[in-house]
Parts: sequence; structure tokens; C-alpha cells
Amino acid sequence: MTSRAAASVTAVIAAAGSGERLGAGGPKAFVSLAGRPMVEWSIAAMRAAAGVGSIVVACPPEIVAGSSSRYPDLGKVGPDSDSTTFVAGGATRAESVSNALQVVTTELVAIHDAARPLVTTELIAGVLATLKADPEADGAIAATPVADTIKRAAPGSRSDLGVSRPPNASLKVEGTVDRGGLWAAQTPQVFRVEALRRALEADPSRVEAATDEAMLIEAAGGRVLIYPAPAENIKVTTPLDLRLAEMLLADRAAG
Ligand code: C5P
Repeated sequence: MTSRAAASVTAVIAAAGSGERLGAGGPKAFVSLAGRPMVEWSIAAMRAAAGVGSIVVACPPEIVAGSSSRYPDLGKVGPDSDSTTFVAGGATRAESVSNALQVVTTELVAIHDAARPLVTTELIAGVLATLKADPEADGAIAATPVADTIKRAAPGSRSDLGVSRPPNASLKVEGTVDRGGLWAAQTPQVFRVEALRRALEADPSRVEAATDEAMLIEAAGGRVLIYPAPAENIKVTTPLDLRLAEMLLADRAAG
């Protein structure tokens, strides 16, 4: 077990999304996945990771307030709730992370999406070691090389993953992006807390639109490193992803 006294990292788990695209009728992070609420898989991995002391989970406000009849046992979420704090998230991901940061007292923070339940202790350790090895770096992120050929169409044309299938004249290819240097960002993302706090205080419109924390540090001129992650660290967005995650977790349990 990790020595909590020697821990220099707080894990922040972003779990306050509505999960509309999953269509499970409730917040995605609390959907049942292989027998436990999805967020528990990330809590368990963070608890087992060397150097991680406490864990702060940003949840939908109604769940933290205990007013959601669907999730009466929030206090029991996680294998050991002693080192785990639940705070109310916000309307945007950045707001959820900011709320969680208010109770962080360590120098380093590992931000992780509850929507990536396949995260492993090895991946957390790799990202952490990458940041620790470079005193000039402000952050390090898990990422995978982009395998597909990437086409650009009009901004907004994906209507955020609600793909329109019939022949659609507006879905015209405007160009092909050279994938040579492209990486798909994942979590965990580990940061020096001071740099992250500064980045979150930047231009509010940029913060609101941020889909990860690294982009805020980059925009502030900070140095962010990549730790190549296994493709298995998938993000659960659609029902298909949920099924895939179930299968991967079953494989893992079978050894
Ligand atoms: O919506 P998406 O899947 O991109 O969200 C990524 C992660 O950010 C999820 O784990 C989600 O719960 C979290 N999130 C949050 N607060 C929000 C929106 C998203 O904690 N307001």
C-alpha cells in the first residue's frame, strides 16, 4: 500500500458530467460498469498508485448533496472512503476541476476523467515520472498516437458526435490534416498545482471551452510533456464504448 505520509500528489477525478451522449438516463460516472459505479474503477486505480495520497472527486451537485434518490450511498463509493473527498462539480469541466482544486494542498495534482475507467497504476506512474524527470515542465499527459487519417470539415459539423447519416451536403471535406505529429490526449494529466491554478485563472471564455487542462497550460506558454499511453485507456462516451469497457475489464479479471 502507498505510504500516505510520503504522498506528494492529489488525484482529482472529474465525474460531474451529465453523460447525455451515453444516454443512460443519469450521470455517466455513476453508471454501473462491470458491477460497480464507473467512477470506482478510477478511484481504485488512484488509490493503488504510488505517490498518490488523497483523492478528490468532482460529482454532480445533487449527488454530493445527497438529494439524488438514485445514488444514496455516495459515501460508500470507493474501496476506502477515508482518503476520498467528494465535492460538487460545475457546469463545465474546468469549473469542476477548479472546485476540486480548492481542497488540494499538494504540489502536484493528477487530473483524471471518471470516463476512463481502464486507467492503470502503471499509466499513472508513467505520467507522474515523466513530469518529475523534467523540472522545467509544468505538466505531463497520457496520449496515444492518432492512427486514423484525419479529415477537416466545417466547424460544428460533428454536432458533438451526433453523426448525421443520410447524404449530407454540408459534410464536405475541407482538408486532410498531416497526422505525423498528432496525438490524442487522454487522462491522467499531471500538473504542478501552481501552474494549473494560474492557467485556470486565465481568459474565462478559453477556460470555459477547454476540453482538457493541458490546453490551458499550453495557451499560457507552459511546457507539457507526452507519456505514450496504451490504446486500452479508452474514454467511455457512447453505449458501444461502455460495452467495450465491460469486455476489457472482464479480460483483465480473467488474467
Ligand atoms: O463530457 P466528457 O466525456 O468529455 O467529460 C470528460 C470528463 O469530465 C467526464 O469524466 C465528466 O464526468 C467530467 N466532467 C465534469 N464536469 C463537467 C463536465 C464533464 O467533471 N461539467
